[in-house]
Amino acid sequence: MLLLDGKAASKAVKTTLQQQTQQLISDGKRPPHLAAVLIGNNGASETYVASKVKTCEEIGFHSTLLRLDESITEAELLEKIDQLNNDDSIDGILVQLPLPKQISESKVINSISPEKDVDGFHPVSVGRLVQGLETFIPATPYGMMLMLEHYKIETKGKHAVVIGRSNIVGRPMSVLLSSNLLYGNCTVTITHSHTPNLAEITRSADIIVAALGRPGFVKADMVKEGAVILDVGITRVPDPNTAKGYRIQGDVDFEAVSQKASAITPVPGGVGPMTIAGLMKNTLDAYTRRKG
Ligand code: NAD
Repeated sequence: MLLLDGKAASKAVKTTLQQQTQQLISDGKRPPHLAAVLIGNNGASETYVASKVKTCEEIGFHSTLLRLDESITEAELLEKIDQLNNDDSIDGILVQLPLPKQISESKVINSISPEKDVDGFHPVSVGRLVQGLETFIPATPYGMMLMLEHYKIETKGKHAVVIGRSNIVGRPMSVLLSSNLLYGNCTVTITHSHTPNLAEITRSADIIVAALGRPGFVKADMVKEGAVILDVGITRVPDPNTAKGYRIQGDVDFEAVSQKASAITPVPGGVGPMTIAGLMKNTLDAYTRRKG
């Protein structure tokens, strides 16, 4: 069984980005610049944004963290995004989700300039993804594609089953795996909460992407011998034996499923680090496309 180590694979991506950034600087150019918008005090969001900002520093990107109060109005937030859109020194904008309930997620996503849409959630980015055009791929599916590439996992002609159809993970992953890409060309089944007989479908999968947010959901009897498993789930499960009082659990019963899988991502340390790598690649791409 091959452990698909997200820390190692993301390090390789980050090292390349670091070298590209150093080259820009030695050519007398400024580095790429990511602006992250964090609203309120959601613990998980704080952690994600902190690690995105830290990774920017490691690579040599500039980053700006805009912290806004939970009570901000939609109009005020849209105004801030407008300022970032019009700031030529900023290449990529991300607004950490979820948003407070007074703010429309789709309005915010739509307000980000498509040329700075490093999260890849804007309808223009999604449309371009579906059409196989140059775009920003949402960071988590992008990270999984980079993982497949890093470990040279054969995908052509395989049956991939994606569990979950969210706009940020399942849906774009199903598009990528079915696209005519070096690590695509799968026959894809996308499944969701209304799919009957899910286990029957997953048992025929060569590749399973579990992105439903239910800890330990994918059991060994749902998996074919030799399948490749990408576990996206990150749920905080209460655990009094840890300092934080919780541990992170994936959507796959790792202990049992790893006995049958040919390759599997651990949680944590699998898809999570690759997500940040995907975001960083998008940031450099945004810079390059804007600056030519
Ligand atoms: P979501 O809640 O938006 O979507 C969940 C999807 O799972 C839905 O499409 C739903 O139909 C499907 N689903 C729910 N129950 C199901 C069932 N019993 N059978 C089949 N399908 C079912 O979730 P999301 O935002 O895509 O996130 C999914 C998981 O991935 C969460 O644990 C989230 O925290 C995690 N996540 C991890 C990363 C990362 O970087 N590792 C990034 C994003 C999300």
